[in-house]
Amino acid sequence: MQKERYGGIAWTAIAALMLFGWAATLGSLAAGRSESPTRSQNKDQSPSAAKTQTKVVLLGTGTPRPFPDRSGPATAIVVGERAYLVDFGPGVVRRATAAAEKGTPQLESTNLKIAFLTHLHSDHTAGYPDLILTPWVMGRTELDVYGPEGLEEMTKHVLEAWRRDIEIRTTGLEQRHALVVRAHDVKPGVVYQDERVKVTAFRVPHGQWPEAFGYRFDTPGKSIVISGDTSPSEEIVAHCQPCDVLIHEVYSPESVLSMPNYKTYRAKYHTSTSELAEIANRTKPGILVIYHTAGRGPHGPIPDDQLLREIEKTYHGKVVIGHDLEVH
Ligand SMILES: [Zn+2]
Ligand SMILES: [Zn+2]
Repeated sequence: MQKERYGGIAWTAIAALMLFGWAATLGSLAAGRSESPTRSQNKDQSPSAAKTQTKVVLLGTGTPRPFPDRSGPATAIVVGERAYLVDFGPGVVRRATAAAEKGTPQLESTNLKIAFLTHLHSDHTAGYPDLILTPWVMGRTELDVYGPEGLEEMTKHVLEAWRRDIEIRTTGLEQRHALVVRAHDVKPGVVYQDERVKVTAFRVPHGQWPEAFGYRFDTPGKSIVISGDTSPSEEIVAHCQPCDVLIHEVYSPESVLSMPNYKTYRAKYHTSTSELAEIANRTKPGILVIYHTAGRGPHGPIPDDQLLREIEKTYHGKVVIGHDLEVH
């Protein structure tokens, strides 16, 4: 076994921590799988409103395209004092800090301790070294991350890539405490539960990815479903029956991509505005929040009102086009 050290912790110790996390996850998986989702099912169990108040903070609503006003995909579910991240696209920690300064102190970098990953595409993971390292340098003690198969491997490689930095910061004059990251490759089902939230992962179809997840969050105040990247998904329909907030990706059929056969690619990987309208009609969320908008037409970015018009042709519920740092 390799004996490289990461911030004072032997890799063997990190691997052991990962295994422990995996075993714990299996336990919660078995405990929670049989429960069927309902809207705000825990609404009456709240010990006090402030402790469990839930809000959704959009940290990054973009795609691989580096729009300056749309950071890489990242969403925060904030319940009481705690924050839970879904995805960590580029810019995640700075957007979280901006959200903290705008009135959500739960998103201070040192509070970013629990994250869930939808899939391993780079636009959703290019902020992973940032999420691992920046809050640690600022004093965060540990990080737990849950996601599809391949997350543990990616975590190991990120730690290895930054090995020299971690060594200098822990053994040099900075005297940082040990870096503790526990990555958990999980399977669909209940993957995480604490006194504030239950998190259920479900499989979504995303082209050739063997495993991509959407997530449902049940808190005492809200039920929230987030699609990740997906073509039209029956699992999303099944997990929002109903839900308070459905956060869903979309593309406009008017938008274009610089790749051959992009229409075939998109049909297998993503959801069009008309397909999303149909999903919304079948799920009737309290609010539909659009993110991960692939929106560049032949004459420039697709405007929000065009996306809305396309969806509202057949869906008449509450829908908003999400932007970075909005709170829902
Ligand atoms: Zn994406
Ligand atoms: Zn993707």
